Amino acid sequence: MPAKPPDDARPGTAKPCPICGKPATEASKPFCSERCRDVDLNRWLSDSYKIPAARDDDEDAE
Ligand SMILES: [Zn+2]
Repeated sequence: MPAKPPDDARPGTAKPCPICGKPATEASKPFCSERCRDVDLNRWLSDSYKIPAARDDDEDAE
């Protein structure tokens, strides 16, 4: 019988960091680092102010 794959090496278990797409780490998951976690938090807080997204095409009225 071949050895079964180790539990900590299951593919598809680690989701990529939602901020930068790097593999998430155990310490900061679902982010890859504390830094990305802060980025996500700030993004979330900013969103509560209804700040428009990066594009302001709305200004481009004809
Ligand atoms: Zn990241």
